[in-house]
Amino acid sequence: MMSYLHWPIIFCGFGLLFTAVELMRPARPLNYRAVIKNDLVALGIYGLLFLPVSIWLSGRLIKPDHVFLRSLLDLPLLVRLILYYGLADLGLYGLHRLMHSRYVWPIHRWHHSPPYMYWLAGIRATVPNQVLFNLPFAFCAPLLHHAPAWLFMLIFAEGFFQNNWMHMNVTWRSRWLEWVFVTPRYHHIHHSNRPEHHGANLGSRLTIWDQIFGTYVDPEGVEDITFGIERPPSPARLALGI
Ligand SMILES: [Zn+2]
Ligand SMILES: [Zn+2]
Repeated sequence: MMSYLHWPIIFCGFGLLFTAVELMRPARPLNYRAVIKNDLVALGIYGLLFLPVSIWLSGRLIKPDHVFLRSLLDLPLLVRLILYYGLADLGLYGLHRLMHSRYVWPIHRWHHSPPYMYWLAGIRATVPNQVLFNLPFAFCAPLLHHAPAWLFMLIFAEGFFQNNWMHMNVTWRSRWLEWVFVTPRYHHIHHSNRPEHHGANLGSRLTIWDQIFGTYVDPEGVEDITFGIERPPSPARLALGI
């Protein structure tokens, strides 16, 4: 049986795998030693403080029992799982768009602060950022009522994998995949510090929301981007989202 203690081992395993792929096919040169310290500190804060607080807050803010019609629970589990991911991903797109608006931006900008991209660069998220990003999944969770426990473990692992995958420093040119799914180079444009890329490619899993709602930038026509934010505030203000 998987326990909380297994996650550090799984994390290290995935970390080695992601790093090996990045070393084989890097999109840009990267000095790991120069960047890993910042992100390990961010990871420690995330795992020991932000994640437990966010889970605690999310559980108290959300009472989703009556959001969905009971008839949806009669659908096969696979259909409900597809609905769960589709609706939650749409909600996530909407919230991500909101975070790029002027007044909500301070709680999200920490995520955009690294001037580099690699698998661990996406770890930075303030408590309100995490709570808001959890909301769509929490609201859609009743769709998975009575699903087996292993499915929730898989969903948790998928979320971890997805966040690391889309920040990876790899060259990945899969056109057909990008018509539907977010790839590293697709999400890298979202982290670009060019003004014309601000608020572009907001999708986390599916790229169709960007195409439907007009925030899509085709990765095929974009070369040589750099990352980070202009005039970042102090690290404490970044991490607190104020
Ligand atoms: Zn963003
Ligand atoms: Zn990101």
